[in-house]
Order: sequence, then C-alpha cells, then structure tokens
Amino acid sequence: MEQATIGIIGGSGLYDIEGVKIVDEVSMDTAWGAPSDNVIIAEIEGVRAAFLPRHGRGHVHLPMEINNRANIAALKMMGVRQVIAFSAVGSLTEMVHPLDFVVPDQMIDRTRVRAATFFGNGVAAHIAFAHPFCDRLRHLVSARGALKGVALHDGGTLLCMEGPAFSTRAESELYRAWGAQVINMSSSAEAKLAREAEMCYAVVCMATDYDCWKEDEEHVTVDMLIANLNKNGENAKSMVKTLVPAMAAAKRDCGCGATVGSAIITAPEKRNPEQVHKLRTILPEYF
Ligand SMILES: [Zn+2]
Repeated sequence: MEQATIGIIGGSGLYDIEGVKIVDEVSMDTAWGAPSDNVIIAEIEGVRAAFLPRHGRGHVHLPMEINNRANIAALKMMGVRQVIAFSAVGSLTEMVHPLDFVVPDQMIDRTRVRAATFFGNGVAAHIAFAHPFCDRLRHLVSARGALKGVALHDGGTLLCMEGPAFSTRAESELYRAWGAQVINMSSSAEAKLAREAEMCYAVVCMATDYDCWKEDEEHVTVDMLIANLNKNGENAKSMVKTLVPAMAAAKRDCGCGATVGSAIITAPEKRNPEQVHKLRTILPEYF
C-alpha cells in the first residue's frame, strides 16, 4: 500500500497544507498505536506527499504526549523514504532572527521522558547517530528551499528540550555556552526514530523568538509566538511546494536506507517473537 515516498511533518503553525491537491486522507494504525492525526496525501507538482501534523489539527498534543513511534511507523508503512519536518524554534544567537529558517546539522538531546526507539523488549539495536540529520537532504533543503525575504541558515546545532515550560534564563545561557543556535521540544525522538526506520530526515527550524536570554527583548509571550508562528507557517507552505518535487527528483545516494542491518545485536534465536512481529511492519528487510 505505497501511497507516497515523501513525508512532511508539520509543527506549530503548520497544521495543514492548503493550496495543493489533496488526494486522500488516511486513518492509520500501527504496532505502536495511532499517529497524531490522519495522514493527508497531497499531490504537489505531480508528486505524492504524505502530510502529518505532529501536534494534531487544532494542536491537541504536547511535545511529550506525541506518539513519535506511531507517526514515523505510519509514514514508513505508507511508503515514505524521505521526511522533511518543520518545527517552531527559539533562537539562541544574535545570528538567527525571528522569522529566519535554520536547517541544523547537529543536535543536543535534553528530553527525558519520551519513547525514542523502536527497539527493546527483546530486540536490541544501536544505530549510528553522530550525524543526526541526513546531510544529503539537509543540503538539498538549503540549496532548493530558499524563499524570497526569508533568511535560510545552512547548518547549526539544535537543542531539543523537554518542556512544556520554556527555558529558564540560566538554562538558556547554558545552551548558548554549549554552542546551540536554536531550541525546540520536538525533534530528538523524531530524528532517532526516522533513522531507525531507515528514512532520510531533515528539519526546517522556524525561529519565532529569542528564547529568554536576550536582555533587550521582551520575554517569550504566547501572543508574540502565535503571530510569528503563523507567518512562519505561511512561509513553510511555500517552501513545501518547491521542496517536494526537488526531493522526489533527487538521487537517494546517502546511507540512510541501510542503517539497521549492522545495528541489530540480539542473536536471531534470542529475539522476542512479539517484538520481531512489530518490527516487521516497518523493517521487513530484517525481521
Ligand atoms: Zn539520507
């Protein structure tokens, strides 16, 4: 039941993709439960893409409530091999202004309570994650995703925090000292699971504010966030229309499609059959 090879995960401010042909809306179920919402199948320049709003339409899921395993599994089961995700972020540097976009190449994971692996329960595997995003896809997004009037920064370190409360001042300064440029609450589990599912994954970080470190800025307020979220969401929709055809046309010559084979360490005869059955739904090549 291959429905799309390109996946789009929408974040805060990007709950739907109007202005493109909607082909279908699919209610999915996976071995890890239901995804955040129905998956919308859109046709963009003749290319089918599967769109999933991470927080659900109407924004009903907090970051730590999102069933990332179900989201990634659903997309993989639908045939998706490349995922472009969008996420609202705070800027931790003077270089990144609100309404700028950043395509990070590194990440620091400060989340604590999320399921971020398909493995365990009798099947152990450790995937390589030194480069948490697909560099090929990141370069493609940076090269082809430029929008008039929107600064697009190629590379940078994303810090993923637990939330849902925003950072303290001390935390914000700490993350700056660590060299992080942007901060969000959503990317770490998603990126790890996409890697485990052998999908290319890159995230477009859309800056809404300066977190809380900047002396001369008002502290983060919900009103300010919403206005910038909406503007960023409009820009993201424009970007999707050029990125999807470019992703479909690109040669997938990165290593993302073969990350799991050498990562599984449990002896075949010792693997829990129930877990093997679940993994077979997304990684039939190995299980
Ligand atoms: Zn890749």
